[in-house]
Amino acid sequence: MGFFEKIKAGLTRTKENIGHSFDQLFAGELNDDFYDELEETLILGDMGVDTTMKAVEELRRRVKAEKIKDMEGARTCLRRVLTDMLQVGEPALKLDTTPSVALFIGVNGVGKTTTIGKLSARMKGEGHRVLMAAADTFRAAAADQLEIWSERSGVELVRQYEGADPADTAGRLHNKQNLMNELNKISRVVDRELPGCDRETLLVLDATTGQNGLIQAKQFKEAAGITGIVLTKLDGSAKGGIVIAIAQELQVPVKFIGVGEGIDDLMPFEAEKFVEALV
Ligand code: GDP
Repeated sequence: MGFFEKIKAGLTRTKENIGHSFDQLFAGELNDDFYDELEETLILGDMGVDTTMKAVEELRRRVKAEKIKDMEGARTCLRRVLTDMLQVGEPALKLDTTPSVALFIGVNGVGKTTTIGKLSARMKGEGHRVLMAAADTFRAAAADQLEIWSERSGVELVRQYEGADPADTAGRLHNKQNLMNELNKISRVVDRELPGCDRETLLVLDATTGQNGLIQAKQFKEAAGITGIVLTKLDGSAKGGIVIAIAQELQVPVKFIGVGEGIDDLMPFEAEKFVEALV
């Protein structure tokens, strides 16, 4: 399967979770029942209550202001509302200086290692020289996994001995204070060693965890200056709406999405295409 087919397959599976409900919904009439059912569909699609209320309110407002009477018009309008909600901040990575630093944080199993591997391969393909640094020194297996990915993507890796002070830690969520201390230390070390360099702090979230992912994201956002989100496992049972909830409630851009376990299964996030696949 080529890259685009994989993306399509990933998004199609996501779409199937709520896509059917949308088709039914838009076969009806544009009345109060429609808005009630839309609310229900969006909440079931993992968009969360707050973000759903906001979206439906905005849709009502635009339908009225733009004198939309038919369902096709309402559907297009909903797509625009959701796309606008996704457009918070800059979706592209800003790693323009040489060197630049990208930090990846997130709880165990969300897909950090896999994402680092995929992104390294992508950046190497774009002509960058990539160096991976294993920071989760508390878990030997984590560095081993990263080593496998460094070989797979053909980039260099540095790793310390097990249990070493991770001044470049991945930031594991033992508790919030601990996380904050670790992340602050990383920040200080990067500031000291690489002043003026571009830095991205990417929070990796598993889309299949739905609203739990949003709670995690809020905690991490408080503790670390997150510049972007990578949402993994959108090829699985994720319902998709979580992407909108996260962007909206955190006001942090989703920069990449993971659509599989392979090295090519990472795509830069495109709000418009994503919404089109969803609604
Ligand atoms: P980490 O603990 O955050 O470093 O997580 P890993 O990178 O080790 O990933 C945990 C599991 O999730 C592995 O089995 C990965 O293959 C899988 N995984 C990661 N990203 C994706 C994705 O986008 N789609 C799917 N289906 N699985 C993924």
